[in-house]
Amino acid sequence: MPQIAPIGEQVGKYMTIPESAKGPAIDPAKGHRIQDLGQGLDMVTENVYQSMFLVYDKGVVVIDAPPSLATFIPKAIVYSPSHIDHIGAASGRGGKPIIIAHEETKRLLARAHDPNRPVPTVTFKDSYVLKVGGKRLDLSYHGNGHEPGNIFIAAPAQRVLMVVDVIFPGWMPWRRLALARDVPGYFAQVEQIKAMDFDVLVSGHVARTGTKTDVATQSEFINDLKAAAAKAPGTTKPGEGLNSADLGNPWAYFDNYIDRVTIQCGNSLTQMVATAGGV
Ligand SMILES: [Zn+2]
Repeated sequence: MPQIAPIGEQVGKYMTIPESAKGPAIDPAKGHRIQDLGQGLDMVTENVYQSMFLVYDKGVVVIDAPPSLATFIPKAIVYSPSHIDHIGAASGRGGKPIIIAHEETKRLLARAHDPNRPVPTVTFKDSYVLKVGGKRLDLSYHGNGHEPGNIFIAAPAQRVLMVVDVIFPGWMPWRRLALARDVPGYFAQVEQIKAMDFDVLVSGHVARTGTKTDVATQSEFINDLKAAAAKAPGTTKPGEGLNSADLGNPWAYFDNYIDRVTIQCGNSLTQMVATAGGV
């Protein structure tokens, strides 16, 4: 039987979280923090997920309903993506809320048959202006940057933009570029957000809201990543250093090469960040 190292020895060690990645403290008695974004618009977070709600004279519009924030969120919902971690608490809001989403999100949710993620009742293709009680949210679709149907929600009066799972203020994107379904589309969307006019970014994750500077930092990170990825394949050869007993195993031959390239890419990216004073 081959020896398998204990899981504890196989997983990585983590850096201490830098101050720039932390958000304001959360009152442990409440378990969440509400940030006033102005004119009835608020962001709610428990330091991992972020959603928003807009209070108007006759009700509340909720933008996403992450299960971890379920108890803090009222009614009437806009979905940004279809992923369960962002909207899985939608059904527990009581009543029959109007649910607005992109038509692709409706298609994905109809296929999922998940009682926790009710199918949207109103959909749009390119853009949708939601006006409630003299307040306004501009919903728009900019293609597949994270997953099909993931929309932008702009609150022009408050100068707030919400886009989920694309920008990570103070942090690297989650693994595999936050599970981007179309990597060039994801890169393009970061540049698109960089060119937009807003003051506060609600990113769907992490402990604090973001700024234009956070978007610029992520754009620079992506440029460094592209440079490191372009260089890495030439730094080693397929089969190099492979155990000779595995040379006849084509899966081992390429797996070993891909792992070497990935490690080289990670190492040179770490060096670039360190040189830039980031670590
Ligand atoms: Zn997410």
